[in-house]
Amino acid sequence: MSDSVALSWQLRERPGLTIVEFTGEIDENADFGELKKRLRGPVVFQLAEIRRINSCGVREWVNFVRDMPQVTELTFSHCSPAIVTQLNMIFNFRGSAKVRSFYAPYVCESCGHEEDKLIDVQSQFPGGKFKAPEFACEQCSAAMEFDDLPERYLSFLNES
Ligand SMILES: [Zn+2]
Repeated sequence: MSDSVALSWQLRERPGLTIVEFTGEIDENADFGELKKRLRGPVVFQLAEIRRINSCGVREWVNFVRDMPQVTELTFSHCSPAIVTQLNMIFNFRGSAKVRSFYAPYVCESCGHEEDKLIDVQSQFPGGKFKAPEFACEQCSAAMEFDDLPERYLSFLNES
């Protein structure tokens, strides 16, 4: 039995901006050829719904983002934990992209509630300063803890 979800995307064209919302898993079946042809100008990739990326998928992705001749500006937003893991491990996973926002795992020490919190890079890391923001638990309003090693999980921020 497999619960894998094939990769798909939705393209939204705005004046002067193209937004691509990705869903599913990036693996050896990922084919970005058609998408690549349609991308030009400033482009934002929304990556919240990317659940998994395997090593073949990483290769497809790196080839995709490093060669987008018509794209003038590339931004990654809402990066899922799976994307963050790759950003931390694979030097050229982002291509020329800037990371605008990403999800980070948090856990409540009081009630155990776990949640991935969206973190905005510009507002939380002004001047490249290195500190995970604080959140209150939605269940019991106790303070939540960053549920990974910040030095590791946030290391991709040092490269931008
Ligand atoms: Zn709690």
